[in-house]
Amino acid sequence: MKSIRWWFWLGLLLVGRGGVWAEDWQEYLRQGIDRYRQAHTPADFAEAASAFRKAKALALPTRRDQQAQAAYWLGRAYYQQGDLEAAAKELEFALTLAPEDPAVHLWLGYCYAQQGRNRRAVEHLRRAYRSVEATPQERTSAREWLLSLYENPDLEALEPPEKLVTDRFIIKHYPREPVLGIVIRTLEEAARTIRDRLGLIIGEPTEVLIFRSAAEYQYYHQQRQLPRPEWSVACVANGRIFTYSTSTPTLFQTLQHEYTHVALRIATNDRRLPCWLDEGLASLVAQQFPAHRLDLERAYRRQALLPIDCLTVPSFSVYQGDRAYLAYLQSVSMVEVLLDRFGPTRLQDLLRLIGAGYTADEAFEAVLGMTQRGYLLAWQRELFGGY
Ligand SMILES: [Zn+2]
Repeated sequence: MKSIRWWFWLGLLLVGRGGVWAEDWQEYLRQGIDRYRQAHTPADFAEAASAFRKAKALALPTRRDQQAQAAYWLGRAYYQQGDLEAAAKELEFALTLAPEDPAVHLWLGYCYAQQGRNRRAVEHLRRAYRSVEATPQERTSAREWLLSLYENPDLEALEPPEKLVTDRFIIKHYPREPVLGIVIRTLEEAARTIRDRLGLIIGEPTEVLIFRSAAEYQYYHQQRQLPRPEWSVACVANGRIFTYSTSTPTLFQTLQHEYTHVALRIATNDRRLPCWLDEGLASLVAQQFPAHRLDLERAYRRQALLPIDCLTVPSFSVYQGDRAYLAYLQSVSMVEVLLDRFGPTRLQDLLRLIGAGYTADEAFEAVLGMTQRGYLLAWQRELFGGY
């Protein structure tokens, strides 16, 4: 009898405390939203964030909706303060609790787009745009952001109609596509090389679109407002591979090269690698630039090797002719020596740290004990001896 009475009082106490918690949670959330809506400066948003942090701390651990709402608003407040790392973390947490919420997808999309993590941005903006629960404003905003990333959602109508799903790929193609089999085999081979040589297991499926002709491929990219050069046979945009039905001999190497870029972006949590590492690894997997040692030695003797600042530009497409060739050549050699000297495990460590938001130089310091500039010198010593 005594124990029943004890349980009764304990139950009442818990219900009572639950009530108090809920009130505090809601009160802080309301305060935060008021401040957020009237905010003009980062300091105002910091005040809102402080209220949202309290709301999050007081939200009942058993109430996923409360936790998700507090984290969502806290993420928005961090975003407005310009702290994109903290914003992404909160919004990712909110998404685990409310995976269908279009507002969470939308703000995660903004956040990733601002960080240059466009594959993820497009994924979440599309989810928000397609969600039946999205408000008209949310849909409009998702569409505008998709347009700014050259991903007009209306262009889906131009995509090949058939879909083949394998373990690794979602392939959109036309009926009786003659290159379908060879495209799959080529990409599967790249996946094996990426696993054996770089030690990377690609954990996400990749979408591949095969158009019927160069003209269709070119037309699609013109409509995206990002036309491709006339010689292009395959390319990657926001994590998707585009190609067309062709017997061009360079198709296979190009596909393997582009797929490696996709694999690396998946491995780094959609963060950019320094250009030399990215292009070097992609060219290594595709076995491009095989005759490089002699050409490199010639460049070394002429003191024409590229300094690190020229290898960390956003894209090697800024270079033409000999300089472009040298940029790729030097990058392939630098990643080859990196893999021979330190092994794939160190490469994975580098990718993991960059994926966690560290700069490339911080990651190089932590994993190899030298910056990229230091590594460039070590590579020269290894290859040519001395400085
Ligand atoms: Zn490339």
